[in-house]
Amino acid sequence: MINLFNNFSDILESIFLITGIIISVIFFYVSSISIYEKEYRAFRVSLSLSIILLVPFLLIFLSNFSFRPMVMMLILIVLVLVLIVLFFPYNPKVKAYYQVPTEKHDERDVMFSRNELKIDSKNYSDYYAKNPAKKELDDKFREKPGLLSKDSNMYHPFSFASAHANLEVIEALKPIVNGRVSENRQEVDPFKISNYIKTWCKKLGAHSVGITELQDYHLYSHKGRGDLYNKEILNDHKYAIAITIEMDNEMIQTAPKGPVVMESTQQYLNSGTIALQVAYFIRSLGYEARAHIDGNYEVICPLVARDAGLGEIGRMGLLMTPELGPRVRIAAITTDIPLVTDFSEGKSSAIDFCSICKKCADICPSRSISFADREEIKGALRWQINSESCFTYWCSSGTDCGRCMAVCPYSHPNNLMHNFIRWGINNSYIFRRFALYMDDLFYGRRPKSRNLPNWIDI
Ligand code: SF4
Ligand code: SF4
Repeated sequence: MINLFNNFSDILESIFLITGIIISVIFFYVSSISIYEKEYRAFRVSLSLSIILLVPFLLIFLSNFSFRPMVMMLILIVLVLVLIVLFFPYNPKVKAYYQVPTEKHDERDVMFSRNELKIDSKNYSDYYAKNPAKKELDDKFREKPGLLSKDSNMYHPFSFASAHANLEVIEALKPIVNGRVSENRQEVDPFKISNYIKTWCKKLGAHSVGITELQDYHLYSHKGRGDLYNKEILNDHKYAIAITIEMDNEMIQTAPKGPVVMESTQQYLNSGTIALQVAYFIRSLGYEARAHIDGNYEVICPLVARDAGLGEIGRMGLLMTPELGPRVRIAAITTDIPLVTDFSEGKSSAIDFCSICKKCADICPSRSISFADREEIKGALRWQINSESCFTYWCSSGTDCGRCMAVCPYSHPNNLMHNFIRWGINNSYIFRRFALYMDDLFYGRRPKSRNLPNWIDI
C-alpha cells in the first residue's frame, strides 16, 4: 500500500514538474516568435511569463510540506478545467449575422470618386446638387493637402514617390481590363478550369482565391471614376472570381507613415496584374472576362470576396481573411466561363469577436470607426465607418493611414502560433474573450506605430 502511494506520488510529482516546464517552454516559444516579428512588448511579456510561471512549480516540487501532493493535484485539476473551458467548442448564434444588401451601392458616393470631382465641373455641381449634405463634409477634405501631397503630415520623399510610381502603372493598366474574346471557344470542364485558375493565381502570388455567382448587390449601380463617370453599370457575367494578396506586415506596422501607402498601392498593383492575366487567359479560351482593378471597378470587391468564401466583413468595413485578417488587397474578375462556386460558410465568430474587440475603433486617429453594434444599412446588418472623416485624415496624413488594419488582432502574421489563436477564436465564445485580453496584454491596447525600416528611411 505504501509502495503504491509512493508510486502515485512520484508520478504526480513528475506530471506536475513536466506541466510547469511545458507552460514555460510555450511562453518561451512565444517570446522567440515575438522577437522575430519585432514585437518587443510581446517578447518582454512572454519571456517574463515563461520565467514567472515556472517558479511556483519549481518551489512546490522542491519543497517538502505535508499536503504538497494535494496542492499539486489541485493545481493540475484547475489547469485541466481551464483548458476545457477555453477550448470546448461553444458558439452561440450571432443575431442575423449573414445578410445581403437589398440595394446597390453607387460608386459616385465613394470618397475616391468624390475626390476626383473637379471643382466647377458639371459632374461636381450635379453631384452636390443631388447630395447637398455631402458638400460641407467634402469641403473639409478639400482644405487638406491631399493624398501623397508634399505638404502632408507624413510626407516622405521616397515612399511617396514609390506609391506614385505604383499608381502610374495602375493608371496605365486601367484601359485593358476588358478586351477581345477569341472566336475559337474551347470546351472546358468547370472543375478542372476552376482548379487551374485558383492554382495559377496562387503561383502568381495570390494569398487566396474564391469563386461565387455574381449577384446584383456585388455591382455598383453607376461608375464613379474615369471617363465612364455616371454610366449605369450593366454586367451580366455569371461568375465572379475574387483574389486576395497579402500586404507586408512590417510595412503595415509603420501605419500611418509612408510605407503603408507604398505597400497598399503595391498590392493593388499586384492583385490587379493577376486579375488582368486571368481575364486575358479566359478571353483567349473564348469566354468573356473583365478584370476589376484599383480605380476601375464595376464590383465591390469585399462583398464578392466574402461570398466567395474568403472571409467576413468586420467592424472596419474591410474583408477579414482567416489567416491574415484585413491585411490583404483584393481584385476580382467577372466572367461567363463555366466555373464551380465556393461554399461561403461564413464566420459568425468573426462578427462576435468584432463586437467585443473594438481595437480599431480605439486606435483610429479620426474616430471614424463605430463603437456601437451593427446597424441596418441598405437592408443588411453591418458596421459602417465614417468614410468622410477617415478620408479627411488621409488627406492630412498624405497616406491611406491603415492604423486600424495594423492593430487588428486578426492581422498578425500567418504562422503556427497566430493560427492556433485564430483557430481558438473561431472555435469558442469564451476563448475569444480570453484571446482579446491576451492580445491587449501582449501587444497593447493602443500599440505605437513602428519606425520606418532602415532601407526606406534614407
Ligand atoms: S480590430 Fe477588432 S473590432 Fe476591429 S476589425 Fe479587427 S477584430 Fe474587428
Ligand atoms: S484608415 Fe485610419 S482614419 Fe481610416 S478608419 Fe482606419 S484608422 Fe481610422
